[in-house]
Amino acid sequence: MNGSKLKVALVSSEAVPYAKAGGLGDVIGALPKVLEAHDCEVMLFIPKYSAIPEDAHKIKINWRVDDISIPVGEKNFEVHLYQTTLPGTNTKVNLVYCAHAFDNRWIYTNDADENQRFIIFNRAVLKILKKMKWKPDVIHVNDWPTGLIPLYLKTFYKDDPFFAETGTVFTIHNIGYPGKFLPETIYLAGLDQTKFFPGGPYEFWGMFSFMKTALLYSDMITTVSETYAEEILTPDYGAGLDGILNTRKEDLIGILNGVDYEIWSPEQDAYIAATYSLKRFSGKAKNKAYLQERAFLAIRPEVPLIGMISRMVDQKGFDLIAAIVPQLLEMDIQIVILGSGLPKYENLFRTLTQDNPDKVYVHVGYDNQLSHEIEAGSDMFLMPSLYEPCGLNQIYSLKYGTVPIVRKTGGLADTIIDWGASLLSGKKNGNGFVFTNPKPEALLDAIHRAVMVYSNKKEWTQIVKNGMKADFSWERSASKYIEVYEKAIAKRKIPKTET
Ligand code: ADP
Repeated sequence: MNGSKLKVALVSSEAVPYAKAGGLGDVIGALPKVLEAHDCEVMLFIPKYSAIPEDAHKIKINWRVDDISIPVGEKNFEVHLYQTTLPGTNTKVNLVYCAHAFDNRWIYTNDADENQRFIIFNRAVLKILKKMKWKPDVIHVNDWPTGLIPLYLKTFYKDDPFFAETGTVFTIHNIGYPGKFLPETIYLAGLDQTKFFPGGPYEFWGMFSFMKTALLYSDMITTVSETYAEEILTPDYGAGLDGILNTRKEDLIGILNGVDYEIWSPEQDAYIAATYSLKRFSGKAKNKAYLQERAFLAIRPEVPLIGMISRMVDQKGFDLIAAIVPQLLEMDIQIVILGSGLPKYENLFRTLTQDNPDKVYVHVGYDNQLSHEIEAGSDMFLMPSLYEPCGLNQIYSLKYGTVPIVRKTGGLADTIIDWGASLLSGKKNGNGFVFTNPKPEALLDAIHRAVMVYSNKKEWTQIVKNGMKADFSWERSASKYIEVYEKAIAKRKIPKTET
């Protein structure tokens, strides 16, 4: 480093404002700005999915980095580099384009060549870094789609002086997605097939896992909350990777995600009907009325409006909600849900809306505008997740004065304090309602408690205030990332040998 800036190559399948499927996109879009403030020079790498609008993001092809050919098995795919600059930063965004992999397909697919799409991306990133002659101190990769990079550095590039001093950091955003593919992936990725044997580095329950190799070969591992860092060491939460993780326990660190308050704050949110703050709180009521109207619900200021924005998958606790539908319908509440995912949940909630249009509104799909409107217009926000690595919406909700009802797990446990418990302790610092058992009764009890306290204006105002005052900006997490980068850099001095 020699006093110069720390060079960080940040690699991800998602980044706001270009491509987002969930929290990963928000995190990667925000991190460069924070790292730059800590004297890092950041290069961001994401795939160039064809739906990313070039003009809107001032994206240009870089002809100087030409002729990149990526082998996948016996085939070769041509890759081109596109570039732009991340707004509000000096970060160069490198968009890796391969027609075969990314044309007419959005971020994740269930297609048979999903493994190939990201093999191409992973290999291309390393080739591009070399072609650009930009030697990173650290390559920070995220979740399974970028999980082969640490392995490639310790195999293909192990004797390459260009990367001899490059450390790697792998961040687990969700261990429930191991990037598990047929063993032929090893061949397609150009890796040594003799390493596929039970318990071997390339074997994961009879398959090949991008995530497992990342856990084995990266210099440091982080995940997105302290509680999740502990949980994933156990069989209940480790998704079959807890054994491996326990061997890397010393190198695993939980760092809570921050929030980009320039995007997620009611004081300056361009998407909402009226801006507001703790001091000018009247705007909140306008947003509620707007949301009720948009959701075809009665405009009733006094009725508790519960919002939810979520991928509709088992992880998010939809089974718990489904089990208490009859009881919810008996209550004088309104529910607005935005999400998409498994057909069983999409259908359930569609039917629920059709049968109870006065109580429930569900929008199946992805809608950024509506997600901001729900944060601003709801009184409560529901996140009954079975597991939650960090969770961002509960943290956004705090800032919007929208009281979270959450299950005590992962990042939800690290950010939400139960109001009832805080009354008992005399601290009165509760900012939400928390339940522990992943059981429908426990969820229903938390909702009942929230609805009861909602009618007590004084207590409710205190909870809202506690939430809105909290600061979960990136600042406090950024220095922790720098520490991890430094640890990874220290490790790079140890000769890189293949395990
Ligand atoms: P996860 O990454 O597991 O999906 P997080 O709570 O960490 O969950 O982040 C979810 C992010 O994705 C939030 O910014 C949320 O607003 C957004 N999001 C999820 N589903 C939708 C949707 N259907 N429409 C718009 N935004 C969504």
